[in-house]
Amino acid sequence: CGIVGYVGSPVASSRPLDVVLEGLRRLEYRGYDSAGVALVAPGQELATAKKAGKLANLVEELDARPLPDATSAIGHTRWATHGGPTDVNAHPHVAGRLAVIHNGIVENFAVLKADLLAEGAQFTSETDTEVVAHLLARAYERAGDLTVAMAAVARTLHGTFTLLAVHADAPDTVVGARHDSPLVVGLGEGENFLGSDVAAFIAHTREALELGQDQVVTITPDSVTVTDFDGAPADARRYTVDWDAAA
Ligand code: GLU
Repeated sequence: CGIVGYVGSPVASSRPLDVVLEGLRRLEYRGYDSAGVALVAPGQELATAKKAGKLANLVEELDARPLPDATSAIGHTRWATHGGPTDVNAHPHVAGRLAVIHNGIVENFAVLKADLLAEGAQFTSETDTEVVAHLLARAYERAGDLTVAMAAVARTLHGTFTLLAVHADAPDTVVGARHDSPLVVGLGEGENFLGSDVAAFIAHTREALELGQDQVVTITPDSVTVTDFDGAPADARRYTVDWDAAA
């Protein structure tokens, strides 16, 4: 039940995987049954790892099968709603060269899944979330842009969601969207953060942007762009986190 995203320039001092694992640890108090990460780097394929159970299981998996260094990362702890707490149902969910993580419920997933199956999509999990991965991959093929694709997909989803996605074509970008579920941006120097809660990045920055309802956010190492689900520029509330959680 936690979400973390990170993107840094090559000179940023933080290591994307470490930032994301640390963020997930700080969100553990919310409870979860599985955890996973996806990493992207220039000229590389998407790299993912996911495991049912405690974060320690994921860390063990990452020690046994290390992922290459990355420029961007997303991390997830899952509280299963659709599909049991298994390795396969853990997030991220992958379609083509993109990966998605999700907190919430896609209420209309059955209809969306039936359409995708009819179009030949191959599902590997029992989750509601996997429809988002397939829809995003298709929208990305049409739009050629992850932000535009995210807004288009967000418009078709019913339910509650905080979503983050990365694509191997855009190794310096993480895109998020929210509807009835929280998403906060952490503003860094040459690096930016996303979290379902400020605890995800409080060790790195206290400068934050709270996204409004039905917004899409795109972070790169030195930019943060917010739009509504129609792609129009939107405002998010900037504030300084005044909370001694770093201890
Ligand atoms: N509904 C999704 C699932 O069951 C996400 C659950 C969550 O919020 O962690 O996989």
